[in-house]
Amino acid sequence: MAGMLVDERDQKFVLFEQLEIDKLSDYELYSEFDKDVYLMVLSEAKKLAENEFMPLNSVGDTEGVVFKDGKVIMPESFHRLWALWNEGEWRGLDIPAEYGGQGMPTVLGMAANEFFEAANLAFQMSVAMPRGGALLIAQHGSDEQRAKYVDKILTGEWSSTMALTEAEAGSDVGATRTIAERNEDGTYSIKGAKVFITCGDMDLAKNIIHLALARVKGAPAGTKGLSLFLVPKYKINSDGSPGEPNDIKVVSVEKKLGLKASPTCQLSFGEENNCTGELIGRENQGMTIFFTMMNESRLIAARHGAGIASSAYIHALEYSRERLQGSQIGKESNRQSPIIKHPDIRRMLTMMKSYTEGVRALIYYSSYCIDRVHVADSKEEKQKWEKRLGFLTPVTKAYGTELSFRVTEAALQVYGGYGYTKDYPIEQFLRDEKVHSIFEGTNGIQALDLAGRKLSRDSNDLYTGLLKDITEFCTEYKEHSGLKAYISILDEAKKALAEASVFLLELQKKDFELFALYANQYLELFGDVIVGWLLLWQAVIAWEKLSSIAGDSNPDNAQLENFVTDNVEAAFYSGKLGAAKFFISNVVSLASAKAAIIRIADRSALQIAENAFVV
Ligand SMILES: Cc1cc2nc3c(=O)[nH]c(=O)nc-3n(C[C@H](O)[C@H](O)[C@H](O)COP(=O)(O)OP(=O)(O)OC[C@H]3O[C@@H](n4cnc5c(N)ncnc54)[C@H](O)[C@@H]3O)c2cc1C
Repeated sequence: MAGMLVDERDQKFVLFEQLEIDKLSDYELYSEFDKDVYLMVLSEAKKLAENEFMPLNSVGDTEGVVFKDGKVIMPESFHRLWALWNEGEWRGLDIPAEYGGQGMPTVLGMAANEFFEAANLAFQMSVAMPRGGALLIAQHGSDEQRAKYVDKILTGEWSSTMALTEAEAGSDVGATRTIAERNEDGTYSIKGAKVFITCGDMDLAKNIIHLALARVKGAPAGTKGLSLFLVPKYKINSDGSPGEPNDIKVVSVEKKLGLKASPTCQLSFGEENNCTGELIGRENQGMTIFFTMMNESRLIAARHGAGIASSAYIHALEYSRERLQGSQIGKESNRQSPIIKHPDIRRMLTMMKSYTEGVRALIYYSSYCIDRVHVADSKEEKQKWEKRLGFLTPVTKAYGTELSFRVTEAALQVYGGYGYTKDYPIEQFLRDEKVHSIFEGTNGIQALDLAGRKLSRDSNDLYTGLLKDITEFCTEYKEHSGLKAYISILDEAKKALAEASVFLLELQKKDFELFALYANQYLELFGDVIVGWLLLWQAVIAWEKLSSIAGDSNPDNAQLENFVTDNVEAAFYSGKLGAAKFFISNVVSLASAKAAIIRIADRSALQIAENAFVV
């Protein structure tokens, strides 16, 4: 049985047949790993996720967290998951060995974590944050800070948070009001209030290290004046053990739509003027430090969303095979047929399949770019992958989470009325899914990052990098015997994206407000083209594999159909072809129209008077 979380065959296809990540072992950095090790990790992740994490997903959703006497109590069952997670050393899987991790490629870490997030995202939130925290301290802390914090966080003895958001500083991080005042002993007194802090308090770890942004008294306004502090829940004794409580109060825990077993806390620092923190890096470097983590943390947010979508899709598929309603079009029968036979359900399932597989490829490819940065042996090579990652990060975060939401929503639709009830897990999936377009920088902010920052700064790298690769791909396969019509649609879409890019760059200089209005459409167009490319690239591979299974270099469709009936591998590859064709025909084919919308640059959304929205 394939399992209800992740399409493992597709996962392996992207990792080993498309990206060929086993070749990363040719580089010194990853030379101690090989395909067998990667497969073993994925298999263990699957086992743990299915056997332990998945059964507790609805339990956590029902129990939620308890906020009592100023403390957060996690669902009792999560203590076991926390212990298993720590025993398995999963937090350090893709953290460099020099920092105490296992040093595996980022792309492998993404794939392994997909199982856990598909199984139980609320729990996973409690371990994803500390992983990022440990890495940040390892990369930017002093030797003393590394020794004091990293190992304890990596082993799960302690936890950590990312404490950026404030009531007046959400998307506008530069508006942060939390203040830090230098003390004579080199520490800082912290005073301020943070909101929406994931695991701002919880009882799974013995201490919590808040990575909090604050402004040192007298520092410049805006993001330039922000510094980053390590603010422990319990002050740390000279022997490294947790000591007296720091002056941090949990004011409240949000009552949320989803992720009910993940505490989202409002925290108050220094109400008694006794909250102490340590500076990490230098003063006013807070945002620069966070930016070094930004690519990875945004890809992880996309992965969270994709994990849920993956499981939602598989659940909907299973349901559609079992649920009997109506009769199949064109079949004379009094018997009800499984709903998978109905064209509209087939449409939704194929949409879900192509989006899920497209987003998986997008996330893995972007993570693979991180690994290529790590192994680059020249400045030019490093820059090439960094620039590519720069474009792909906001697209993966925003486009990926949008598509994942649509998959999860369609999965509920497949269940009909039952999907809307608590009898099935889909309604929880949909509630848990929504947040991904909001946190880690809203999707609107990602669009501004792509169009306003990346495109305006690095357009040349886009034309000579990603777009050039797509052009070369289209040129190489333009006469492909089975896919040429689809290659041609992708080629047109890529031209439309290039033209829209040139147009927006000009518009940005003339009318920034109008330009900002179309940033979102631009990101969508960008995502369509990149995912279209990744899926067609997969289709080319699938075609070759299918042909070789068929023992014929150019099999016709009828021959292929026969193979699919009794050959699992042939069925997989034919599914890959179907998903790519569907995505190109139904999504990428709209690219020219989307680009035209951008070029028309209609101003109505800006011109409509505010009091005219509802009179
Ligand atoms: C479950 C959950 C967990 C979270 N965990 C954490 C955490 O661990 N740590 C942490 O620091 N934060 C966390 N957050 C906070 C999250 O990062 C913020 O909610 C998010 O950054 C948006 O800020 P906001 O809610 O204030 O929305 P706002 O910034 O008020 O945005 C409202 C809307 O306006 C749009 N908007 C705002 N400014 C602009 C602009 N300049 N241009 C265009 N559109 C704009 C946004 O896109 C959005 O659609 C969490 C949030 C949630 C819901």
